[in-house]
Amino acid sequence: MKKNILKSLCEIADYISPKTHLVLGLDFDGTLVPIQDVPSSVFIENNMRSLLDLLSKRENITIAIISGRSLDDLIEKVGLSDVVYAGNHGLNIMGPGLRNIDIKALQKQQTVEKAFVLCKNLTNKFSGIFLEDKTLTFSIHYRNLNPKNVQELHLSLKNMVSELGDLVIKTGKCVFEIYPAVETNKFTAFSWVTTQIVDDTTNIGKIYLGDDDTDEDVFRSLKDGIGVHVGHKENSFSNYFVKDPIEVKEFLSWLSQHDFGLTPTIGKF
Ligand SMILES: [Mg+2]
Repeated sequence: MKKNILKSLCEIADYISPKTHLVLGLDFDGTLVPIQDVPSSVFIENNMRSLLDLLSKRENITIAIISGRSLDDLIEKVGLSDVVYAGNHGLNIMGPGLRNIDIKALQKQQTVEKAFVLCKNLTNKFSGIFLEDKTLTFSIHYRNLNPKNVQELHLSLKNMVSELGDLVIKTGKCVFEIYPAVETNKFTAFSWVTTQIVDDTTNIGKIYLGDDDTDEDVFRSLKDGIGVHVGHKENSFSNYFVKDPIEVKEFLSWLSQHDFGLTPTIGKF
């Protein structure tokens, strides 16, 4: 049975205290902000932004926001200078002194563009879907599609992907995402950020919060860290859960009020 992290704060403090640095990985939609039908209409609350700002300015804490949104979109939505941003589920990373882009994903971009053109035709066939261009990837949102037709849409996408090759479909909440077939995922992106602080990450605390299927890649592989699923999903690979972005904020607020004796023995980036 998974535990609510807000009821396990002593355990979390015990985990953090011996570490030299904490990397806090966060998904965006559904984690820092409630999910909206139209992704562009999402805004981060001022007090959530202030908390992230406060934590990101601490010398011994790194905040990495890892989202399916494009990098530019994510940076615009959050708007903080000391945060590391990873767009397209980690394909495109930027932060203070940091830059990393998945070269293999760039090489497959033409195929992604071909798929985008083919999917435009699907918007005539499947009424209610809409496409979101995210540069290295794109999404097909189907919240407004008749649920009876979702399986047929999925099948059409699977056929398209197998014909074009070099692509995979990621699934999310009422969204399919066309993604280049590369090894990068949210876990590899999160790990990459931690290794930018120090090569041997044994003494780095790692906490990751997210609500998406793609966040399960982190929970599944994060052996020496703390995974927190946002929402109610019994079969999540996470160790802990919180109910919603409001509880995420409570957790961040608790973090911001403690220093845990973290020793800033290493420079940040
Ligand atoms: Mg999410």
